[in-house]
Amino acid sequence: MPTELTQAIVTGYTDYRDDDRMLTLFSAERGRIDCKARSCRRPTSKLLSCAQPFVFGEFELFVNNDRVTVNGCDVRETFYPLREDADRFIAASVCTQLVNSVIQKESSDEPLFSLLYHTLSFLAYTDSDPKDLLIAFLLHYLDHAGYRPSLTRCAVCRRDIRSDAVLFYSAEAGGAVCAGCPHGGKPVSKLALEAMRRILLLQDDELKRVVLKEGLRAELLPILKSSCAQMLGENDKGIALIEQIA
Ligand SMILES: [Zn+2]
Repeated sequence: MPTELTQAIVTGYTDYRDDDRMLTLFSAERGRIDCKARSCRRPTSKLLSCAQPFVFGEFELFVNNDRVTVNGCDVRETFYPLREDADRFIAASVCTQLVNSVIQKESSDEPLFSLLYHTLSFLAYTDSDPKDLLIAFLLHYLDHAGYRPSLTRCAVCRRDIRSDAVLFYSAEAGGAVCAGCPHGGKPVSKLALEAMRRILLLQDDELKRVVLKEGLRAELLPILKSSCAQMLGENDKGIALIEQIA
């Protein structure tokens, strides 16, 4: 029987029948894999520990044409502390949902995998504020998807805006907009723009260094939410979840 091994993170699931579950896996090499985990909700199932959200492991998959079934898994990381803190759980759920919205079958995406893996690790195993980690994730996620907000130039007229006193942010225009250009945006502070510039300079393994003041978090989360909605549409599941943490 053709089985294959792949390292992946569980980014979503749907229960069906009495104790089965459909899993969405994100594999760095193979992209999205939708697969069945049969009987995984039985207490005695060998799949019980791997068929959980956020689990990272080496999955053994049985592939039959289009149908993929999980045979087993060598669990490497459960990120268990995410289940013990509501804000960390929600932040991690936003990340996996947003990843699910962009990953494709048979399409490798190691940079996005690395971003998700590091963010889940920091959410689970560091004292970093989950809002700070979510803000860092959202910015790098947008950048990765080709939606990096314009932060040093006006998104409309392209003029350098670093010395401007009054600025706006418009997801529709693609980032910061100067006072002289038409836009449907909201005022944005220079501090918020500077914070985003700095966060984008960090590597994935440095994202735990982001420490923001509460006022800046409250300014940045809605901005980044609006940019994600611009990219994915307002009805995306992950975007709706951002509200719960903000
Ligand atoms: Zn302008």
